[in-house]
Amino acid sequence: MSADKQNKDKKELDKKTMLRTPKGMHDILPVDWLWWDRVQDVSRRLTDFYGFSRIETPILEFAELFQENLGESTDVVQKEMYTFATKGGEVLALRPEGTAPVVRAYLQHSLSKTAALQKMYYQSRMFRHENPQAGRYRQFSQIGLEIVGGTSDPLYDAQIMLIFDRLLKELKIKGVQLKINSMGCRICRPIYKRQLQSYYKDHLKELCEDCVRRFETNPLRLLDCKQATCAPLKVDAPNFFDKLCSPCSAHLKMVLEYLEELSIPYALDNQLVRGFDYYSRTVFEFFAETPGHKFGALPAGGRYDYLIESFGGRPTPAVGGAVGIERLIDVMKAQEMQLPNRASCKVFVVHVGEQAKKRSLGILEELRTAGITARDALSRESLKAQMRTADREGAILAVILGQREIFEKSIIIRDLGNGLQETVPLDRMIEEVKKRLKNSHE
Ligand code: AMP
Repeated sequence: MSADKQNKDKKELDKKTMLRTPKGMHDILPVDWLWWDRVQDVSRRLTDFYGFSRIETPILEFAELFQENLGESTDVVQKEMYTFATKGGEVLALRPEGTAPVVRAYLQHSLSKTAALQKMYYQSRMFRHENPQAGRYRQFSQIGLEIVGGTSDPLYDAQIMLIFDRLLKELKIKGVQLKINSMGCRICRPIYKRQLQSYYKDHLKELCEDCVRRFETNPLRLLDCKQATCAPLKVDAPNFFDKLCSPCSAHLKMVLEYLEELSIPYALDNQLVRGFDYYSRTVFEFFAETPGHKFGALPAGGRYDYLIESFGGRPTPAVGGAVGIERLIDVMKAQEMQLPNRASCKVFVVHVGEQAKKRSLGILEELRTAGITARDALSRESLKAQMRTADREGAILAVILGQREIFEKSIIIRDLGNGLQETVPLDRMIEEVKKRLKNSHE
């Protein structure tokens, strides 16, 4: 190929890749932030109220952290991690989930010494090389909650579900359903696994390729398979609820009692298996009705009483969960939700002439310092265009400054509702604006 042709092809390629994000990754545009702010504001208020402190871990971690702790046979470890070797020879991965990094940080910084029980939350970006579809992306953000330490108290399982339930309620998401299962413990799970294997042994030929692999490595995950060949086999598979040991059974019962006490409806689902192997006892997933769309689980998570030990720490109970922010927003949009207006603009600053434009900057600052939400359209010169923008912003008042007002050290305050206006001395502007805003609320 000639050098010219090569250069041309490269330019074409650059043009194609330069103007688009990689597959499954998105810009969050100014208009999207209305939704993001809503979700983040509500979750921040809830996590504060329930006493969770924020934790943020690096986007990159040693790949081993996930390979060793999420489960060798999980989709994330098998095929979805963005892993690469650095120039220094380290093998790093873009964080695919938040729990393992939080546990790493908990141990690395000996957080148990600062408080026996740590309640932490994060809002972090995750990366999984998945097949993108509605509600499923390669880069996505999760709001995650983790309670680490204390005892394996079912109250904490219920509290995690309570906070997510409140989040969905405050976001006004409709048709919410909570599914719960138990993954048992070191005593009862191996027994159940063997029972599952002996049931599936006779159906190996009917299983999909992934499930044949799962049959050996983690037979519980056979219950999670959505393939047409495997799904019908689940119907007659042994039920874990019948095989739970008595402490696990009592734990589940208490979780359900707490949920009843909190009036959170739930459905037991003995086939609910989460995507990571670190769970023990409670696992849960919230769903919302979105006719015509399939988005998958909203908040989801569970208890992971053995994970800290598998990092080499002391046995430490823990429970948590996470929800994808993009998926939440997808559901809100699919349910045709209207967002309440952003703290709406109260006062619009209008200028007439070059000198007034300059002076408007100071006026805006005075309003801002007094805590009054104000906007301007300083780039527009015509009075008409500025007044139109004021209308569009839903302003209650306009403060208008022209040549004459500058000369007289005054300002016009116009009520945009009834069109009445009055000229007031500039040094009384704030007082007069506040008075009128107060009257407009009464
Ligand atoms: P997981 O970390 O797999 O336990 O997932 C917890 C929650 O994160 C899910 O229930 C979804 O709400 C969200 N989530 C997981 N994977 C994705 C993804 N690829 N895209 C968007 N949201 C996701």
